[in-house]
Amino acid sequence: MSDNKPGFSTLAIHAGASADPATGARATPIYQTTSFVFDDVDQAAALFGLQAFGNIYTRITNPTTAVLEERIASLEGGTAGLAVASGHAAQLGVLHTLMQPGDEFIASNKLYGGSINQFNHSFKNFGWNVVWADTDDPASFEAAVTERTRAIFVESLANPGGIVTDLEAISKMAKKAGVPLIVDNTMATPYLCRPIEHGADIVVHSLTKFIGGHGNSMGGMIVDGGSFDWTASGRYPMLSEPRPEYQGIVIHETFGNFGFAIACRVLGLRDLGAALSPFNAFLILTGVETLPLRMAKHCENALAVAEWLNGHKAVEWVRYAGLKDDPYHELANKYVPKGAGAVFTFGLKGGYEAGVKAVSSVNLFSHLANIGDTRSLIIHPASTTHRQLTDEQKSAAGAGPEVVRLSIGLEDVDDIIADLDQALAG
Ligand SMILES: *Cc1c(COP(=O)(O)O)cnc(C)c1O
Repeated sequence: MSDNKPGFSTLAIHAGASADPATGARATPIYQTTSFVFDDVDQAAALFGLQAFGNIYTRITNPTTAVLEERIASLEGGTAGLAVASGHAAQLGVLHTLMQPGDEFIASNKLYGGSINQFNHSFKNFGWNVVWADTDDPASFEAAVTERTRAIFVESLANPGGIVTDLEAISKMAKKAGVPLIVDNTMATPYLCRPIEHGADIVVHSLTKFIGGHGNSMGGMIVDGGSFDWTASGRYPMLSEPRPEYQGIVIHETFGNFGFAIACRVLGLRDLGAALSPFNAFLILTGVETLPLRMAKHCENALAVAEWLNGHKAVEWVRYAGLKDDPYHELANKYVPKGAGAVFTFGLKGGYEAGVKAVSSVNLFSHLANIGDTRSLIIHPASTTHRQLTDEQKSAAGAGPEVVRLSIGLEDVDDIIADLDQALAG
């Protein structure tokens, strides 16, 4: 064994996994079971009281899912992970642990359209109030802070593409306000960006996208950065006050720098119920093994397509931070030096009609609402994902009428370009 810390590609294959103790199976087995037999009454009592770690019921823990949790936490450089059924369930789980009714959180205005909806409507029904700030203006986050602020939420590479967030500047605002910075790292993945190294306290993922990577499984992940003091301010009672359902234990005091992940599991997931299926955990784990290879190829193909579109006569603009003259290129060099991801937008001179025509004319590309598949994907946000937003919100989110979004896959780049060429012709 070398003393050197294993590299990213090694961790992507090995972190969290050892040969199955019961059978020697090398691949992580799918523990497709709802529940686990207790050794005896005393062990059962210890498990229920959080005095021992072990499996009770798959809504709370599962051995297949546990490998995925350790793998992603390790790739992100966090202390612990919690897998859930989807990216949206991860966002729900995080805020459920941080927010009481009447509390506020500040969110970047350049987010995945589904997150804008979740924050504006469903979360408001829980009494959790979102306050929007401008991703490109870190000072706007500071200006939005009030007594009731409990968190700041941003995306590293922001949906619908091409935007790089200045994580260190926004992390400074979060530290000043004494609240955690939550970073949705779905579009970058830890291969391109590790937000905890730039001041994030919590990372969330939709595993549905590049991490699973094959367009076949929904999943989400919460990663505890282990850095935040949940007790100092008294603002996070789920972590700093005795829990009646666990004989009065105080979660932060008992579990220290992985207390946040524990609270999300034993208070959040236990009651909210959005558990990941062990079968999905297995498929996503298989995807993670090739994450470094896939992300490198996704980025290489995306840059070639962006450069080609940049010279096309029907194209008004291309917004890809990997392009040298892009306004986000400098931030990209800092935060995603290995590549600016595979999702980006471009604007068609022909506006809304041209966008509709492009998505109707592709053959190799699939017209659908997803990103991060091996396959190349296309969507016209104004007529689909961002349809419910007001015109103002659409433009703020980078989803105006002329905008087309691509998620570049792993096909031969010549075939990807040829398909766009024929779809944009005429
Ligand atoms: C897809 C996505 C989500 C939501 O994830 P689901 O797995 O679809 O629930 C959240 N954030 C970003 C950036 C996404 O792309």
